[in-house]
Amino acid sequence: MENRGSVAQLLEPVREAAKRGELRDAHSMLQDVEALYPLDEDVWSLKAAIANSDAEAASYLARVVELNPRNERALRDLAMMRLGASSRMHTAVNAAHPAEYKCPLCHHAHTCQFDSCGSCGAITDTRRVLEMVNNAGADAEIIRAAIAHRERKPSAESLAGAAAGALNLRELPAAYDLARRAVELDPNHAGAMLLARRLEDPWWIVAVSPAPAVRLALLRSLEPFAGFVRVAAGREEAIAAIGELRPRAVVIDAKTGGGGLALCQPVRSLLGVDVPLVLLGAGVMEKLRARSAGAVSHVAVPFDASSLIAALKPVVGLE
Ligand SMILES: [Zn+2]
Repeated sequence: MENRGSVAQLLEPVREAAKRGELRDAHSMLQDVEALYPLDEDVWSLKAAIANSDAEAASYLARVVELNPRNERALRDLAMMRLGASSRMHTAVNAAHPAEYKCPLCHHAHTCQFDSCGSCGAITDTRRVLEMVNNAGADAEIIRAAIAHRERKPSAESLAGAAAGALNLRELPAAYDLARRAVELDPNHAGAMLLARRLEDPWWIVAVSPAPAVRLALLRSLEPFAGFVRVAAGREEAIAAIGELRPRAVVIDAKTGGGGLALCQPVRSLLGVDVPLVLLGAGVMEKLRARSAGAVSHVAVPFDASSLIAALKPVVGLE
């Protein structure tokens, strides 16, 4: 901790270069700082902010979280990475000069519009529907009050926002009802229309991984497709979700506690043989055994979205 001052001083010109768009300089300066402070979370945060690809950024952010599991900004940046490189640059590079943004649900003012709300915990960006339905940090009481408030002065915008609130509470029928009422008021409200269509006959993929970065990458990869994804951190949670949601496909990280392979069989007996089961990141032997355990495909880790989508093609509606 005694190095904080000097690390911050060394990182300042890197941030400045990144803001000016001089990424090559930023990278080379950052390399020098990293050589001096290889275990500093701020160094890795900045590496993520100026990384060349989302996959690279995700691995750096995972390193930040490894160094400090309570680094909220890194956890949040991991969550919002799917919004693209520009938003990554925005938060990490401009963290010192936050803009003010009001939560559309509870009206709490906070500093980053891509964050989940600091007060009610809701995610309100409609490009993050899958994160909404996996949001464990939503404050039900505040959000319910906000939904009730929005329903009292119904406009399409207001009801669409209320639908987002309901998604944060994992209440899909309520969200559908609100989105549909929004569309009735304004048939041209694109956000409400997309939401209503997606919620009309919701279907699920359940994905299990002990790694937060992998769970977020799964949500990010599958967001553009029609269905919903529930992520689980472990075996029990996954089995409960599968029983509740009857998913169209299951994705299992080989590193799941108790063994990813060992989870294939119970999943098969719960869902039958027709539901695609994708094993993430198994070794060569595991891959072979995965086939006999009922996995239909295998995707290497770290995975890119396209190989996951390819494995889930019939399920996500591409065939
Ligand atoms: Zn809020």
